[in-house]
Amino acid sequence: MYEFAVTPAVNQIRRRGVTITDVAAGSIGAELELEAGDRIIRVNGRVVRDYLDFRFQSAGETELVFDVRKHTGEDWELNIERDEAEDFGLSFEQIVPRQCANECLFCFCKGNPETARPSLFVRDEDVRLSFLYGNYTTLTSISEDEMQRVIEQRLSPQYVSVHATDLEVRAYLLGIDKARADISAKMHRMIDAGIEIHAQVVLCPGINDGAILRRTIYDLAELYPSVSSVAIVPLGLTRYLNDPRLTPVTPEFCRSTISEVSTIQRDLQKRLGQRFALLGDEIYLKAGKNVPAQSHYGDYPQIEDGVGMVRSFTNKFAALTRALRASAPGRSRRATFGTIMTGSLFAPVLAKMIDQLNEQFHTRLKVAAVDNDYFGGDVSVAGLLTGRDFLAARHQVSGDFAILPRVALKSDEPVMLDGMRFEELQAQFDVPVMACDFSSFAALVRNGSPFSPREKGWG
Ligand code: SF4
Repeated sequence: MYEFAVTPAVNQIRRRGVTITDVAAGSIGAELELEAGDRIIRVNGRVVRDYLDFRFQSAGETELVFDVRKHTGEDWELNIERDEAEDFGLSFEQIVPRQCANECLFCFCKGNPETARPSLFVRDEDVRLSFLYGNYTTLTSISEDEMQRVIEQRLSPQYVSVHATDLEVRAYLLGIDKARADISAKMHRMIDAGIEIHAQVVLCPGINDGAILRRTIYDLAELYPSVSSVAIVPLGLTRYLNDPRLTPVTPEFCRSTISEVSTIQRDLQKRLGQRFALLGDEIYLKAGKNVPAQSHYGDYPQIEDGVGMVRSFTNKFAALTRALRASAPGRSRRATFGTIMTGSLFAPVLAKMIDQLNEQFHTRLKVAAVDNDYFGGDVSVAGLLTGRDFLAARHQVSGDFAILPRVALKSDEPVMLDGMRFEELQAQFDVPVMACDFSSFAALVRNGSPFSPREKGWG
């Protein structure tokens, strides 16, 4: 869910320049007496639209002129000399995303409860955010200015939702006409300029699967290595996204997709030296199959899209158990007594790993599968669980503490998708609750003792 990486476009007035939000003590910015609220309007005479422009226009420059509009209303011109690698110590306002003009059949914005946080309704389609955070764009409405910017500033790689190379099918899925759906010239322009592209297909049974998917993969493989990977992720239906033209993804559909795509992957492995088209973890889990080995994923080109996350986690878990065995083999870890809450899709996989951990190291950990009632439908991944879902699963918690997945919280603020703040959630549990990523979970197991999440914060 990429809404965590953006701010809502609504109610924000665009002003010239980019606003400084923080200045590090002792930095060049502080020496220049820059302050939060000041705006940098130009760098070396060129207008700055956002922090990407600032970064691009100041990169490698040792002598600079900033035109600054102070928060007091004064205009300053600052002449600056610095060493090439010296940082300005400035933080900037977030980028306000451009929005798409598509009407995708499966748009996640239609799949939100009305009470969801406003940022969940932002239909971002922004090549800057694609470069910065791996957000996908369809390229259907990219302007000439944006295209030139991608090329000039080398905003590479770009993540592009292709969905189907068959124009009729792509136009149908995006809810636009065929002329707009045709992005081949735009992709070629980027490719000719040396921009790398990672493609995505949201797989909708009966629409872009089967022969259409096969053609999409092979058409994109023709553009390898400029198009360097294709992620194929399943359509996700929520209780609010129930367009009758969409068919749910079933375990049987996942099994046949794995079988069809495996044949293509073997062929592409021979021809390109890599599998190129990678299926999302959800497809393997729903099919009841093991996810492939690490070698299948190469350097995990689209892990943020849920492609290879389970394999990466499993391998890190195996490394953790090896390290525990080597470090203090006889040490009792019985004090590590608590519950790990996660999405119902990943819970059985995690439970197997945790069972082995308990057996080998005498920890007393339990996995609780949390159903997603907020979005409903077939949503079962951990990152979309909400505060009220965790609360509804409280009865499953046993032990001295509960852990929930860090990805269920906004990246820069302890708040969940339904707007519930983490401290509100913590207050409603009888035991301490901590949001963990893999490294904080590993630290907990290594330390072998319960912890106080309120002391450690929410991350
Ligand atoms: S491109 Fe499609 S899925 Fe993405 S925000 Fe726009 S309408 Fe929604």
